[in-house]
Amino acid sequence: MDSLKPDSDPSAGALSPSAPLSGVPLSGTPLSGTPLSGTPLPDHALSDVPLSDVLAAPGNTPVNLLDFNLAQLETFVESLGEKRFRARQLMRWIHLYGQDDFSAMSDLARSLREKLAGRAVIAPPKLLASQQSDDGTQKWVLEVGAGNAIETVFIPEGDRGTLCVSSQVGCALACTFCSTGHQGFNRNLTTAEIIGQLWWANRALGRDPKGERIVSNVVMMGMGEPLANLDNVDAALDIMLDDFGYGLSRRRVTLSTSGIVPALDKLRERHPVALAVSLHAPNDALRDVIVPINRKYPLAELLAACKRYLAAAPRDFVTFEYVMLDGVNDTVAHAHELLALIHDVPCKFNLIPFNPFPNSIYRRSRSETISRFRDILMQAGYVVTVRRTRGDDIDAACGQLAGQVQDKSRRLERLTREGLR
Ligand code: SF4
Repeated sequence: MDSLKPDSDPSAGALSPSAPLSGVPLSGTPLSGTPLSGTPLPDHALSDVPLSDVLAAPGNTPVNLLDFNLAQLETFVESLGEKRFRARQLMRWIHLYGQDDFSAMSDLARSLREKLAGRAVIAPPKLLASQQSDDGTQKWVLEVGAGNAIETVFIPEGDRGTLCVSSQVGCALACTFCSTGHQGFNRNLTTAEIIGQLWWANRALGRDPKGERIVSNVVMMGMGEPLANLDNVDAALDIMLDDFGYGLSRRRVTLSTSGIVPALDKLRERHPVALAVSLHAPNDALRDVIVPINRKYPLAELLAACKRYLAAAPRDFVTFEYVMLDGVNDTVAHAHELLALIHDVPCKFNLIPFNPFPNSIYRRSRSETISRFRDILMQAGYVVTVRRTRGDDIDAACGQLAGQVQDKSRRLERLTREGLR
């Protein structure tokens, strides 16, 4: 979910690739051919995958250990004739120390190191480019093969450092305010490519003088809809939350979704981390256009799922993200309609001034309009934050992540043909 970015509330940060499509109607006819189902949704946890699948690297291709959570790593070391506890040592070396050279893992027996060198690699995505904003925000562009690249953004703020992680190359859900959605969709990221972003950032940023990791929070709000890639996101969450991995608490990991309801229910059962929902509209007619997945999972279903999720969540509220689009969803009437809509869902709001991108059809709401909207929500007793724009000088602001996507969905071609671009 490329939508937002963290500010004062860690659950309020995210970066979604959100960019308006040139010529997309703001009301009336839905986008022709917009894929509403996204990528196939998984129905099993990776930790249930049998050994044969875990070790299913074709031919003599080494397996990438960044793909494995602890359970899978245990299965792997046992397949090498080693004791299970070796998996915990290996996990610490990989994720706690950021080591990618087996020969440097000094407490592993030489025989095991030799076996690993022939059978496995630790291979994060390759770094293509790195940029640092004047405000300290850093963006890394990582290569994920076949001409595709993803973006990962680090946002420092006070004693917190938040990494915004991507989950797909592009996105199939085509939210009309989103730069990533505008680029089309290529594929899901693997577990290694998801956790590899955190691995990479930790290695690059290191630790503070007290020995604490600089990256203290993760938001799944980069390129892609994480719940459309649930199996791999789930395995990556396993590693983030594992004490032998990154040891993050569920409160420090926030997943942002546009609202794939069945997958949200599965996330609640597996890894109920903090939840942010890209709401962006106070009624179905408008949300059908801004967030087209709403046509499949309308607001009543989404809000019911949010309430179910809260029973398991580490925080007792959902953060609703609301991008402020001039003249589209930002009026006084919209604010009151929004309050009526969410009246029985414990929540906070994060208002996101729209970040323009090339060919976007929307404009950012005026600051006085945003203040008026915020005040109406606050007067009703809600906590409301207005996202500060961070990293916009390096196109790392909310909704500006685009990476490089070889679009298999041919979205731009279709929109151009239909005169929508
Ligand atoms: S779901 Fe996809 S298209 Fe929608 S905001 Fe997130 S990344 Fe963009």
